Amino acid sequence: MNQGQQHSISSDDTSEASRPKICVSIGRTRHRMVIAEHRALAERGAELVELRLDWLTRPPDLTRLLTDRPTPVVVTCRRLKDKGKWRYDENQRLTLLRAAIVAGAEYVDLEEDIAQKIPRHGSTKRIISYHNFDETPDYLEEIHAQLSEYDPDIVKIVTMANSPADGVRMLKLVSESRVPTAGFCMGELGAYSRILCGRYGAPFSYGTFSSERELAPGQLSFDQMRQLYRFESITRNTKLFGVLGDPIAHSLSPLLHNFGFHHDGLDCVYLPLRVPKGTLPETLKEFSWLDFQGYSVTIPHKEAAIACAEFPEEIVADIGAANTLYRDEHNAWRADNTDLGAALTSIRMRLTEDDPSASLEGKQVLMLGAGGAARAIGLGLVRAGAALTVTNRTHSRAISLAKDLGCQQTNWENRGSVYADVLVNCTSVGMHPGVDESPFPQHWLREGMLVFDTVYNPEQTLLLKQAKERSCRTVTGIEMFIRQAAAQYLAFTGQPADLELLRDTLRRGISPVGGMPL
Ligand code: NAP
Repeated sequence: MNQGQQHSISSDDTSEASRPKICVSIGRTRHRMVIAEHRALAERGAELVELRLDWLTRPPDLTRLLTDRPTPVVVTCRRLKDKGKWRYDENQRLTLLRAAIVAGAEYVDLEEDIAQKIPRHGSTKRIISYHNFDETPDYLEEIHAQLSEYDPDIVKIVTMANSPADGVRMLKLVSESRVPTAGFCMGELGAYSRILCGRYGAPFSYGTFSSERELAPGQLSFDQMRQLYRFESITRNTKLFGVLGDPIAHSLSPLLHNFGFHHDGLDCVYLPLRVPKGTLPETLKEFSWLDFQGYSVTIPHKEAAIACAEFPEEIVADIGAANTLYRDEHNAWRADNTDLGAALTSIRMRLTEDDPSASLEGKQVLMLGAGGAARAIGLGLVRAGAALTVTNRTHSRAISLAKDLGCQQTNWENRGSVYADVLVNCTSVGMHPGVDESPFPQHWLREGMLVFDTVYNPEQTLLLKQAKERSCRTVTGIEMFIRQAAAQYLAFTGQPADLELLRDTLRRGISPVGGMPL
């Protein structure tokens, strides 16, 4: 018995052994690289690895790949028509799969049309698989029933999500299946189903060696699946949260909230949920089956989110945008906006650092931008008694916002001539990758001015760097970002977040040197 067999997942598993696993796919062109990655994955704690034989440029040598394997394996060999890379004859492929079974591979992946040509033998488990790279068909149940005819130990159904609701249909199928089913959706719209399928009974989901090695659309890396989302410990009891937006792939909110949950030992997970503009109400209706407890809301859904709550806070109606949806103790949906409080607290903290009695009352504030963030922060500034002037590249938007807030406005070209104690940047200028741009030329910055940049990636924007050179006091967008997240965390969990942990996590998340911590 080789090492791989000692690790094998038997049918009389204990609950520990039967918890869902992350199957990490290795697709490399050389045997040497496959073996090296397999070892490295085992050292990193991987318990199941898929060997994609079709990626190898030379004919696969099973003896080399399977002898002394450090973990159990799934042997897979995809044809070109299945979006694989197998370039040899089909008979050779079938022979190879039979040989993998004879060699005692723990699992072999067989597409539906070849399942009957490859008989069961020994202890190797049969994964009967279906992939659809175009859509998630309406007749998923029929597909599943068909696959179940071919003597599977596991049915695998992987389809392309064209709407967020496709993932819900897939997870329902997984949860209702009698045969263990590894079912999830490809693509960003269905990415959450890769993370949640184990919760509904899937024996495993798939991940990649690293985030650069995507073998199928929307795949997450092993480390993301394990450390960020804690795939293996998500159960039916785990409370679900997520961020609704489009685009969403680069959101740092999952990083902050999941690290917070882990730090506080909470059985919760926070997912990125890509929801196209205009589809929020129907998507939330579909998601009700998943029983989410709270959502962060970002562009382009902040306005639409208000109507999705039974009880919007007053501030939400005043701003006209919500960034938080959460269930209260009566299970009713509430909407809140944590941006305003977070921005105001960040400014006040810096103001009072030198003079504890300082306040925004009567301060001259110049705000750059007239988008969503400007609307929330502008309202907060006006309510705090600041003398606010708004300026925006598109002048008509500045006029409209100033009218709504009851404040002054000025032309974008004239912004340097406005006297300001406090300058607030609510434009996206200076944000990665446009890091060499600033919305306010340096020679207009004045010593002693407080400059707050809402942009948080990078933390030290060109505006803030130049402000420091001119002896201004500065506040970074990170301070606002962690505070709006902390207020959401409190609404979600009833617990205060550790601001230091959030700050440190966010800094590591945006660091160009360290990169994402995962
Ligand atoms: P938004 O609604 O899309 O507004 C974007 C604003 O940026 C508009 O005023 C737009 O002016 C202006 N703008 C864009 N490109 C410009 C350019 N090249 N020159 C001058 N102005 C330009 O976005 P938002 O939600 O308000 O977000 C704005 C910024 O706030 C983003 O950078 C975001 O990262 C930041 N933010 C930070 C936090 C935090 O927690 N730190 C929270 C929310 C937002 P036009 O009207 O002329 O297009």
